[in-house]
Amino acid sequence: MRVVSVGGGAGGLLTALLLRRDGHDVTVLERDAEGPPADDEQAWDSWTRKGVSQLRQPHGFIGRTRAVLSEELPEVWDRVLEADTYRVDLRRFAPEQEALVESDRRLQVEVMRRTTFERTLASVVDETPGIDVRRGVAVTGLRADRSENGTPLVSGVHTREHGDVSADLVIDSSGRRTAAPRWLDDVGAPVDEWSESDGFTYHSLWFRTHDGTYPPNIAGFFGGMAPGLIALLFPGDAGVFGVAMVGLGSDKPLRRLRDTAVFTSVASEFTPIAGWVDPDVSAPISQVLPMGAIHNRRLRFWNGDGPSAHGFVNLGDSALSTNPSLGRGIALALVGALELRSVLRTTDDPQRVAVEYDQVKEERLIPWLWDAVESDRGMRHVFATAIGEATDTTVSDRTLMSRASMQDMECWRRWTGVNQAFELPSSCLEDGDLMDRARTIGSGAPPPSYDLTRQELEHLLT
Ligand SMILES: Cc1cc2nc3c(=O)[nH]c(=O)nc-3n(C[C@H](O)[C@H](O)[C@H](O)COP(=O)(O)OP(=O)(O)OC[C@H]3O[C@@H](n4cnc5c(N)ncnc54)[C@H](O)[C@@H]3O)c2cc1C
Repeated sequence: MRVVSVGGGAGGLLTALLLRRDGHDVTVLERDAEGPPADDEQAWDSWTRKGVSQLRQPHGFIGRTRAVLSEELPEVWDRVLEADTYRVDLRRFAPEQEALVESDRRLQVEVMRRTTFERTLASVVDETPGIDVRRGVAVTGLRADRSENGTPLVSGVHTREHGDVSADLVIDSSGRRTAAPRWLDDVGAPVDEWSESDGFTYHSLWFRTHDGTYPPNIAGFFGGMAPGLIALLFPGDAGVFGVAMVGLGSDKPLRRLRDTAVFTSVASEFTPIAGWVDPDVSAPISQVLPMGAIHNRRLRFWNGDGPSAHGFVNLGDSALSTNPSLGRGIALALVGALELRSVLRTTDDPQRVAVEYDQVKEERLIPWLWDAVESDRGMRHVFATAIGEATDTTVSDRTLMSRASMQDMECWRRWTGVNQAFELPSSCLEDGDLMDRARTIGSGAPPPSYDLTRQELEHLLT
Protein backbone atom coordinates (compact mmCIF):
# COMPACT_ATOMS: atom_id res chain seq x y z
CA MET A 1 0.00 0.00 0.00
CA ARG A 2 1.15 3.59 -0.61
CA VAL A 3 0.84 5.26 2.76
CA VAL A 4 1.27 8.99 3.40
CA SER A 5 1.77 10.27 6.95
CA VAL A 6 0.87 13.91 7.49
CA GLY A 7 3.44 14.90 10.11
CA GLY A 8 6.81 13.48 11.10
CA GLY A 9 6.69 13.90 14.87
CA ALA A 10 6.91 10.94 17.25
CA GLY A 11 3.62 9.38 16.10
CA GLY A 12 4.21 9.76 12.36
CA LEU A 13 7.79 8.45 12.47
CA LEU A 14 7.02 5.45 14.70
CA THR A 15 4.09 4.52 12.46
CA ALA A 16 6.26 4.87 9.36
CA LEU A 17 8.76 2.35 10.78
CA LEU A 18 6.08 -0.13 11.86
CA LEU A 19 4.26 -0.02 8.52
CA ARG A 20 7.45 -0.18 6.48
CA ARG A 21 8.34 -3.40 8.28
CA ASP A 22 5.10 -4.81 6.89
CA GLY A 23 6.18 -3.88 3.37
CA HIS A 24 4.15 -0.71 2.82
CA ASP A 25 5.68 2.20 0.88
CA VAL A 26 5.64 5.11 3.28
CA THR A 27 6.00 8.83 2.60
CA VAL A 28 6.24 11.20 5.55
CA LEU A 29 5.36 14.83 4.86
CA GLU A 30 6.68 17.08 7.63
CA ARG A 31 6.14 20.83 7.68
CA ASP A 32 9.27 21.65 9.72
CA ALA A 33 12.24 21.85 7.36
CA GLU A 34 15.15 20.89 9.59
CA GLY A 35 16.27 17.26 9.76
CA PRO A 36 17.80 15.60 12.84
CA PRO A 37 21.04 17.28 14.02
CA ALA A 38 24.30 15.34 14.32
CA ASP A 39 24.22 14.89 18.10
CA ASP A 40 22.02 15.23 21.17
CA GLU A 41 23.51 18.52 22.37
CA GLN A 42 22.92 20.18 18.99
CA ALA A 43 19.38 18.83 19.02
CA TRP A 44 18.85 20.35 22.44
CA ASP A 45 20.51 23.68 21.67
CA SER A 46 19.26 24.48 18.21
CA TRP A 47 16.85 22.01 16.55
CA THR A 48 13.98 24.16 15.30
CA ARG A 49 10.71 22.22 15.51
CA LYS A 50 7.96 24.81 15.54
CA GLY A 51 5.42 22.05 14.89
CA VAL A 52 6.23 20.29 18.19
CA SER A 53 5.82 23.03 20.78
CA GLN A 54 6.34 20.53 23.63
CA LEU A 55 9.74 19.41 22.26
CA ARG A 56 11.62 20.99 25.16
CA GLN A 57 9.10 20.09 27.86
CA PRO A 58 10.05 17.15 30.13
CA HIS A 59 9.05 13.71 28.84
CA GLY A 60 9.02 10.27 30.45
CA PHE A 61 8.82 7.10 28.37
CA ILE A 62 6.47 4.93 30.39
CA GLY A 63 6.45 1.15 30.71
CA ARG A 64 4.23 0.49 27.69
CA THR A 65 6.35 2.77 25.48
CA ARG A 66 9.53 0.99 26.57
CA ALA A 67 7.98 -2.44 26.12
CA VAL A 68 6.61 -1.77 22.63
CA LEU A 69 9.76 -0.05 21.41
CA SER A 70 12.12 -2.71 22.71
CA GLU A 71 10.00 -5.53 21.25
CA GLU A 72 8.85 -3.99 17.98
CA LEU A 73 11.52 -1.41 17.11
CA PRO A 74 14.77 -2.45 18.81
CA GLU A 75 16.72 -0.56 16.13
CA VAL A 76 15.30 2.64 17.65
CA TRP A 77 15.30 1.66 21.32
CA ASP A 78 18.86 0.29 21.40
CA ARG A 79 20.11 3.51 19.80
CA VAL A 80 18.10 5.62 22.26
CA LEU A 81 19.69 3.81 25.22
CA GLU A 82 23.17 4.72 23.93
CA ALA A 83 22.37 8.27 25.10
CA ASP A 84 22.92 7.21 28.74
CA THR A 85 19.27 7.67 29.65
CA TYR A 86 17.94 7.60 33.22
CA ARG A 87 15.73 4.75 34.43
CA VAL A 88 13.17 5.26 37.16
CA ASP A 89 12.33 1.86 38.64
CA LEU A 90 8.85 2.38 40.05
CA ARG A 91 9.18 -0.78 42.16
CA ARG A 92 11.54 1.15 44.44
CA PHE A 93 8.66 3.45 45.38
CA ALA A 94 6.05 0.75 46.11
CA PRO A 95 4.35 0.76 49.54
CA GLU A 96 5.98 -2.57 50.53
CA GLN A 97 9.45 -3.26 49.23
CA GLU A 98 9.52 -6.92 50.33
CA ALA A 99 6.40 -7.72 48.25
CA LEU A 100 8.02 -6.64 44.99
CA VAL A 101 8.00 -8.81 41.94
CA GLU A 102 11.60 -8.65 40.88
CA SER A 103 10.89 -9.91 37.40
CA ASP A 104 8.31 -7.26 36.54
CA ARG A 105 10.50 -5.03 34.43
CA ARG A 106 7.42 -3.43 32.94
CA LEU A 107 7.28 -1.06 35.87
CA GLN A 108 10.22 1.00 34.74
CA VAL A 109 10.17 4.38 33.04
CA GLU A 110 13.00 5.62 30.84
CA VAL A 111 13.70 9.33 30.94
CA MET A 112 15.61 11.52 28.52
CA ARG A 113 15.18 14.82 26.79
CA ARG A 114 12.51 14.61 24.12
CA THR A 115 15.03 16.16 21.71
CA THR A 116 17.33 13.18 22.35
CA PHE A 117 14.55 10.68 21.64
CA GLU A 118 13.21 12.46 18.57
CA ARG A 119 16.67 13.02 17.05
CA THR A 120 17.48 9.31 17.34
CA LEU A 121 14.09 8.27 15.99
CA ALA A 122 14.31 10.68 13.04
CA SER A 123 17.86 9.49 12.24
CA VAL A 124 16.78 5.83 12.17
CA VAL A 125 13.82 6.69 9.90
CA ASP A 126 16.09 8.65 7.54
CA GLU A 127 18.34 5.59 7.24
CA THR A 128 15.46 3.18 6.54
CA PRO A 129 15.05 2.21 2.86
CA GLY A 130 11.46 2.46 1.64
CA ILE A 131 10.54 5.45 3.81
CA ASP A 132 10.60 8.76 1.95
CA VAL A 133 10.76 11.65 4.44
CA ARG A 134 10.06 15.03 2.86
CA ARG A 135 10.73 17.88 5.27
CA GLY A 136 9.61 21.45 4.72
CA VAL A 137 6.40 20.18 3.10
CA ALA A 138 3.08 21.40 4.53
CA VAL A 139 -0.11 19.51 3.77
CA THR A 140 -2.92 21.95 2.97
CA GLY A 141 -5.85 19.67 2.20
CA LEU A 142 -7.16 16.30 1.04
CA ARG A 143 -7.65 15.07 -2.49
CA ALA A 144 -10.90 13.15 -2.50
CA ASP A 145 -13.45 11.62 -4.85
CA ARG A 146 -16.96 10.45 -3.95
CA SER A 147 -17.24 6.72 -3.32
CA GLU A 148 -20.36 4.79 -4.32
CA ASN A 149 -22.28 5.49 -1.10
CA GLY A 150 -21.41 9.21 -1.14
CA THR A 151 -18.62 9.05 1.46
CA PRO A 152 -15.46 10.88 0.30
CA LEU A 153 -12.65 8.51 -0.74
CA VAL A 154 -9.30 10.15 0.01
CA SER A 155 -6.71 9.48 -2.68
CA GLY A 156 -3.92 11.79 -1.54
CA VAL A 157 -3.10 15.20 -0.14
CA HIS A 158 -2.48 18.68 -1.46
CA THR A 159 0.77 20.24 -0.35
CA ARG A 160 2.06 23.76 -0.57
CA GLU A 161 5.52 22.78 -1.86
CA HIS A 162 5.15 19.47 -3.79
CA GLY A 163 1.72 19.73 -5.42
CA ASP A 164 -0.47 16.66 -4.88
CA VAL A 165 0.93 13.46 -3.35
CA SER A 166 -1.08 10.30 -4.09
CA ALA A 167 -1.82 7.61 -1.52
CA ASP A 168 -3.96 4.55 -0.86
CA LEU A 169 -4.10 5.55 2.79
CA VAL A 170 -3.48 8.98 4.37
CA ILE A 171 -2.68 8.99 8.10
CA ASP A 172 -3.11 12.24 9.97
CA SER A 173 -0.26 12.36 12.51
CA SER A 174 -0.10 16.14 12.62
CA GLY A 175 -0.55 16.50 16.35
CA ARG A 176 -2.87 18.35 18.70
CA ARG A 177 -3.38 21.29 16.37
CA THR A 178 -4.33 19.22 13.35
CA ALA A 179 -6.24 20.98 10.58
CA ALA A 180 -7.98 17.71 9.61
CA PRO A 181 -11.49 18.92 10.63
CA ARG A 182 -11.15 21.79 8.13
CA TRP A 183 -9.75 19.51 5.41
CA LEU A 184 -12.64 17.09 5.89
CA ASP A 185 -15.12 19.94 5.94
CA ASP A 186 -13.69 21.10 2.58
CA VAL A 187 -14.61 17.71 1.07
CA GLY A 188 -18.04 17.71 2.69
CA ALA A 189 -17.28 15.33 5.57
CA PRO A 190 -18.31 16.17 9.16
CA VAL A 191 -16.21 14.98 12.13
CA ASP A 192 -16.88 14.26 15.79
CA GLU A 193 -14.67 16.40 18.03
CA TRP A 194 -14.61 16.73 21.83
CA SER A 195 -12.27 18.70 24.06
CA GLU A 196 -11.99 20.06 27.59
CA SER A 197 -9.24 22.25 28.99
CA ASP A 198 -7.20 20.44 31.63
CA GLY A 199 -7.11 23.75 33.53
CA PHE A 200 -3.43 23.57 34.49
CA THR A 201 -0.32 25.58 33.71
CA TYR A 202 3.06 23.93 33.48
CA HIS A 203 6.33 25.71 34.21
CA SER A 204 9.49 23.76 33.44
CA LEU A 205 13.12 24.56 34.09
CA TRP A 206 16.10 22.51 32.98
CA PHE A 207 19.33 22.01 34.92
CA ARG A 208 22.63 20.23 34.32
CA THR A 209 24.64 18.71 37.15
CA HIS A 210 28.23 19.93 37.39
CA ASP A 211 29.76 16.44 37.34
CA GLY A 212 27.26 14.72 35.02
CA THR A 213 25.95 12.35 37.73
CA TYR A 214 22.60 12.52 39.51
CA PRO A 215 21.87 12.93 43.25
CA PRO A 216 19.89 10.18 45.04
CA ASN A 217 16.30 9.96 43.82
CA ILE A 218 14.06 9.55 46.86
CA ALA A 219 10.58 9.87 45.35
CA GLY A 220 10.67 8.88 41.66
CA PHE A 221 8.93 11.55 39.60
CA PHE A 222 7.42 13.23 42.62
CA GLY A 223 9.31 16.42 43.33
CA GLY A 224 7.31 17.85 46.26
CA MET A 225 4.09 19.67 46.93
CA ALA A 226 2.69 22.90 48.31
CA PRO A 227 -0.99 23.87 48.51
CA GLY A 228 -2.02 24.43 44.88
CA LEU A 229 1.27 23.26 43.36
CA ILE A 230 3.01 19.97 42.61
CA ALA A 231 6.59 19.56 41.38
CA LEU A 232 7.68 16.72 39.12
CA LEU A 233 11.27 15.61 38.62
CA PHE A 234 12.49 14.37 35.22
CA PRO A 235 16.08 13.15 35.30
CA GLY A 236 17.28 12.90 31.71
CA ASP A 237 20.41 12.12 29.76
CA ALA A 238 23.94 13.58 29.97
CA GLY A 239 23.52 15.02 33.48
CA VAL A 240 20.52 17.08 32.41
CA PHE A 241 17.27 17.06 34.37
CA GLY A 242 14.01 18.97 34.23
CA VAL A 243 11.71 20.16 37.00
CA ALA A 244 8.08 20.81 36.10
CA MET A 245 5.72 22.71 38.39
CA VAL A 246 2.02 22.15 37.79
CA GLY A 247 -0.81 24.24 39.24
CA LEU A 248 -4.16 25.72 38.27
CA GLY A 249 -4.11 28.17 35.39
CA SER A 250 -6.45 30.37 37.44
CA ASP A 251 -3.99 30.54 40.36
CA LYS A 252 -2.45 33.92 39.49
CA PRO A 253 0.48 33.98 41.99
CA LEU A 254 1.93 30.90 40.20
CA ARG A 255 2.65 33.07 37.15
CA ARG A 256 5.70 34.36 39.04
CA LEU A 257 7.26 30.95 38.47
CA ARG A 258 8.30 32.28 35.05
CA ASP A 259 11.18 33.97 36.81
CA THR A 260 14.14 31.56 37.04
CA ALA A 261 15.22 32.83 40.47
CA VAL A 262 11.70 32.52 41.87
CA PHE A 263 11.29 29.04 40.36
CA THR A 264 14.59 27.88 41.83
CA SER A 265 13.84 29.30 45.27
CA VAL A 266 10.51 27.43 45.38
CA ALA A 267 12.15 24.21 44.10
CA SER A 268 14.82 24.41 46.81
CA GLU A 269 12.10 24.17 49.46
CA PHE A 270 10.77 20.84 48.14
CA THR A 271 12.45 17.97 50.00
CA PRO A 272 12.71 15.43 47.12
CA ILE A 273 14.47 17.88 44.80
CA ALA A 274 16.26 20.31 47.13
CA GLY A 275 19.50 18.32 46.72
CA TRP A 276 19.14 18.38 42.92
CA VAL A 277 18.70 22.12 42.44
CA ASP A 278 21.39 23.03 44.98
CA PRO A 279 23.82 25.45 43.18
CA ASP A 280 26.76 23.29 44.36
CA VAL A 281 25.22 20.36 42.43
CA SER A 282 23.62 21.86 39.29
CA ALA A 283 22.86 25.06 37.41
CA PRO A 284 19.88 26.03 35.18
CA ILE A 285 20.51 25.61 31.45
CA SER A 286 17.25 27.12 30.16
CA GLN A 287 14.73 29.82 30.79
CA VAL A 288 11.52 28.77 32.52
CA LEU A 289 9.30 27.28 29.81
CA PRO A 290 5.62 27.96 30.52
CA MET A 291 2.85 26.00 28.83
CA GLY A 292 -0.90 26.24 29.33
CA ALA A 293 -4.19 25.92 27.47
CA ILE A 294 -3.68 22.16 27.11
CA HIS A 295 -6.81 20.19 26.33
CA ASN A 296 -7.84 16.60 26.74
CA ARG A 297 -9.33 16.08 23.32
CA ARG A 298 -10.43 13.50 20.81
CA LEU A 299 -11.00 13.79 17.11
CA ARG A 300 -13.02 11.01 15.51
CA PHE A 301 -13.50 10.85 11.76
CA TRP A 302 -17.11 9.77 12.20
CA ASN A 303 -20.27 11.35 10.79
CA GLY A 304 -22.84 9.85 13.14
CA ASP A 305 -23.40 6.48 11.51
CA GLY A 306 -20.25 5.80 9.53
CA PRO A 307 -16.71 6.99 8.78
CA SER A 308 -16.37 10.63 7.66
CA ALA A 309 -14.15 9.46 4.82
CA HIS A 310 -12.50 6.34 3.50
CA GLY A 311 -8.74 6.20 3.03
CA PHE A 312 -8.11 8.68 5.86
CA VAL A 313 -7.38 7.82 9.52
CA ASN A 314 -5.69 9.56 12.43
CA LEU A 315 -3.41 8.60 15.30
CA GLY A 316 -1.21 10.14 17.99
CA ASP A 317 -2.29 13.50 19.38
CA SER A 318 -4.50 14.14 16.36
CA ALA A 319 -6.73 11.24 17.44
CA LEU A 320 -6.53 11.82 21.18
CA SER A 321 -4.39 13.97 23.40
CA THR A 322 -4.32 13.56 27.15
CA ASN A 323 -2.97 15.39 30.17
CA PRO A 324 0.83 15.47 29.79
CA SER A 325 1.49 14.78 33.48
CA LEU A 326 0.31 11.21 32.92
CA GLY A 327 3.08 10.78 30.33
CA ARG A 328 1.01 8.52 28.10
CA GLY A 329 1.02 10.44 24.81
CA ILE A 330 3.74 8.49 23.02
CA ALA A 331 2.52 5.14 24.37
CA LEU A 332 -0.95 5.87 23.01
CA ALA A 333 0.47 6.93 19.63
CA LEU A 334 2.29 3.59 19.52
CA VAL A 335 -0.79 1.61 20.51
CA GLY A 336 -2.72 3.41 17.74
CA ALA A 337 0.01 2.53 15.23
CA LEU A 338 0.01 -1.15 16.28
CA GLU A 339 -3.79 -1.31 16.00
CA LEU A 340 -3.70 0.27 12.55
CA ARG A 341 -1.00 -2.19 11.48
CA SER A 342 -3.15 -5.10 12.66
CA VAL A 343 -6.14 -3.85 10.66
CA LEU A 344 -3.98 -3.42 7.54
CA ARG A 345 -2.79 -7.00 7.94
CA THR A 346 -6.35 -8.20 7.41
CA THR A 347 -7.66 -5.83 4.73
CA ASP A 348 -6.67 -3.08 2.33
CA ASP A 349 -10.27 -2.13 1.53
CA PRO A 350 -10.50 1.59 2.47
CA GLN A 351 -14.03 1.30 3.84
CA ARG A 352 -13.21 -1.69 6.07
CA VAL A 353 -9.98 -0.04 7.24
CA ALA A 354 -11.92 3.08 8.29
CA VAL A 355 -14.62 1.12 10.13
CA GLU A 356 -12.41 -1.47 11.81
CA TYR A 357 -9.73 0.99 12.90
CA ASP A 358 -12.37 3.31 14.33
CA GLN A 359 -13.81 0.43 16.31
CA VAL A 360 -10.50 -0.59 17.91
CA LYS A 361 -9.70 3.03 18.71
CA GLU A 362 -13.03 3.40 20.48
CA GLU A 363 -12.44 0.22 22.47
CA ARG A 364 -8.74 0.41 23.25
CA LEU A 365 -7.69 4.06 23.07
CA ILE A 366 -10.58 6.31 23.98
CA PRO A 367 -10.89 4.86 27.53
CA TRP A 368 -7.52 6.54 28.21
CA LEU A 369 -9.03 9.90 27.32
CA TRP A 370 -11.81 9.55 29.89
CA ASP A 371 -9.26 8.39 32.43
CA ALA A 372 -7.20 11.55 31.86
CA VAL A 373 -10.32 13.69 32.18
CA GLU A 374 -11.17 12.01 35.49
CA SER A 375 -7.59 12.28 36.72
CA ASP A 376 -7.57 16.01 35.95
CA ARG A 377 -10.84 16.56 37.77
CA GLY A 378 -9.35 14.86 40.86
CA MET A 379 -6.16 16.93 40.66
CA ARG A 380 -8.03 20.19 40.11
CA HIS A 381 -10.10 19.34 43.17
CA VAL A 382 -6.97 18.83 45.31
CA PHE A 383 -5.54 22.17 44.13
CA ALA A 384 -8.84 24.06 44.46
CA THR A 385 -9.38 22.69 48.00
CA ALA A 386 -5.89 23.83 48.96
CA ILE A 387 -6.51 27.39 47.82
CA GLY A 388 -10.10 27.55 49.08
CA GLU A 389 -11.80 27.43 45.68
CA ALA A 390 -13.31 23.93 45.76
CA THR A 391 -16.98 23.70 44.91
CA ASP A 392 -17.53 19.97 44.43
CA THR A 393 -16.61 17.54 47.20
CA THR A 394 -17.39 14.27 45.40
CA VAL A 395 -14.45 11.88 45.33
CA SER A 396 -14.38 9.56 42.32
CA ASP A 397 -13.50 5.87 42.38
CA ARG A 398 -10.44 6.74 40.35
CA THR A 399 -9.19 9.12 43.02
CA LEU A 400 -9.84 6.52 45.75
CA MET A 401 -7.95 3.91 43.75
CA SER A 402 -5.08 6.29 43.19
CA ARG A 403 -4.91 7.13 46.92
CA ALA A 404 -5.20 3.47 47.93
CA SER A 405 -2.35 2.56 45.55
CA MET A 406 -0.01 4.66 47.67
CA GLN A 407 -0.84 2.61 50.77
CA ASP A 408 -1.63 -0.90 49.65
CA MET A 409 0.52 -3.29 47.63
CA GLU A 410 -2.32 -5.01 45.76
CA CYS A 411 -3.85 -1.69 44.68
CA TRP A 412 -0.39 -0.37 43.86
CA ARG A 413 0.51 -3.30 41.63
CA ARG A 414 -2.75 -3.23 39.70
CA TRP A 415 -2.99 0.57 39.40
CA THR A 416 0.64 0.92 38.35
CA GLY A 417 -0.15 -1.44 35.45
CA VAL A 418 -2.86 1.05 34.45
CA ASN A 419 -0.64 4.10 34.91
CA GLN A 420 1.97 2.48 32.70
CA ALA A 421 -0.77 1.91 30.08
CA PHE A 422 -0.56 -1.90 30.07
CA GLU A 423 -4.10 -2.45 31.32
CA LEU A 424 -7.18 -0.31 30.71
CA PRO A 425 -8.48 1.63 33.76
CA SER A 426 -11.65 -0.51 33.75
CA SER A 427 -9.48 -3.54 34.70
CA CYS A 428 -9.26 -1.97 38.17
CA LEU A 429 -12.29 0.29 38.41
CA GLU A 430 -14.71 -2.47 37.35
CA ASP A 431 -13.18 -5.14 39.57
CA GLY A 432 -15.66 -5.18 42.48
CA ASP A 433 -13.36 -6.76 45.11
CA LEU A 434 -10.42 -4.53 44.25
CA MET A 435 -12.63 -1.46 44.24
CA ASP A 436 -14.10 -2.34 47.66
CA ARG A 437 -10.57 -2.57 48.99
CA ALA A 438 -9.61 0.73 47.32
CA ARG A 439 -12.66 2.55 48.71
CA THR A 440 -11.91 1.44 52.26
CA ILE A 441 -8.19 2.25 52.08
CA GLY A 442 -8.52 5.34 49.86
CA SER A 443 -11.16 7.04 51.98
CA GLY A 444 -8.95 6.65 55.08
CA ALA A 445 -5.80 7.89 53.30
CA PRO A 446 -4.03 10.82 54.97
CA PRO A 447 -4.35 14.27 53.34
CA PRO A 448 -1.44 15.39 51.10
CA SER A 449 1.65 16.34 53.02
CA TYR A 450 3.13 19.68 51.99
CA ASP A 451 6.71 20.93 51.95
CA LEU A 452 5.48 24.52 52.36
CA THR A 453 2.38 26.27 53.65
CA ARG A 454 0.44 28.38 51.15
CA GLN A 455 1.60 31.48 52.99
CA GLU A 456 5.26 30.42 52.65
CA LEU A 457 4.72 29.62 48.98
CA GLU A 458 3.16 33.00 48.26
CA HIS A 459 5.95 34.71 50.13
CA LEU A 460 8.52 33.01 47.87
CA LEU A 461 6.44 33.86 44.80
CA THR A 462 6.34 37.55 45.62
C1 LIG B 1 3.97 19.65 28.20
C2 LIG B 1 3.87 18.26 27.60
C3 LIG B 1 4.53 17.20 28.20
C4 LIG B 1 4.39 15.89 27.69
N1 LIG B 1 4.99 14.86 28.34
C5 LIG B 1 4.88 13.61 27.85
C6 LIG B 1 5.53 12.51 28.47
O1 LIG B 1 6.16 12.66 29.53
N2 LIG B 1 5.42 11.28 27.89
C7 LIG B 1 4.69 11.07 26.75
O2 LIG B 1 4.62 9.94 26.27
N3 LIG B 1 4.06 12.09 26.15
C8 LIG B 1 4.13 13.34 26.66
N4 LIG B 1 3.49 14.37 26.04
C9 LIG B 1 2.69 14.07 24.85
C10 LIG B 1 3.56 13.89 23.62
O3 LIG B 1 4.41 14.99 23.47
C11 LIG B 1 2.64 13.72 22.42
O4 LIG B 1 1.70 12.72 22.72
C12 LIG B 1 3.39 13.33 21.14
O5 LIG B 1 4.26 14.34 20.73
C13 LIG B 1 2.38 13.04 20.04
O6 LIG B 1 3.05 12.80 18.83
P1 LIG B 1 2.37 13.19 17.44
O7 LIG B 1 3.29 12.69 16.41
O8 LIG B 1 0.96 12.79 17.43
O9 LIG B 1 2.34 14.79 17.43
P2 LIG B 1 3.58 15.80 17.41
O10 LIG B 1 4.74 15.24 18.12
O11 LIG B 1 3.03 17.10 17.90
O12 LIG B 1 4.00 15.92 15.88
C14 LIG B 1 3.15 16.48 14.90
C15 LIG B 1 3.99 16.78 13.67
O13 LIG B 1 3.14 17.12 12.58
C16 LIG B 1 3.72 18.21 11.87
N5 LIG B 1 2.64 18.90 11.14
C17 LIG B 1 1.60 19.58 11.68
N6 LIG B 1 0.78 20.04 10.70
C18 LIG B 1 1.32 19.63 9.53
C19 LIG B 1 0.94 19.79 8.16
N7 LIG B 1 -0.15 20.47 7.81
N8 LIG B 1 1.72 19.24 7.20
C20 LIG B 1 2.85 18.55 7.54
N9 LIG B 1 3.26 18.38 8.82
C21 LIG B 1 2.50 18.91 9.79
C22 LIG B 1 4.37 19.05 12.95
O14 LIG B 1 5.37 19.90 12.44
C23 LIG B 1 4.94 17.96 13.87
O15 LIG B 1 6.23 17.59 13.51
C24 LIG B 1 3.60 15.67 26.54
C25 LIG B 1 2.95 16.73 25.93
C26 LIG B 1 3.05 18.02 26.44
C27 LIG B 1 2.30 19.13 25.79
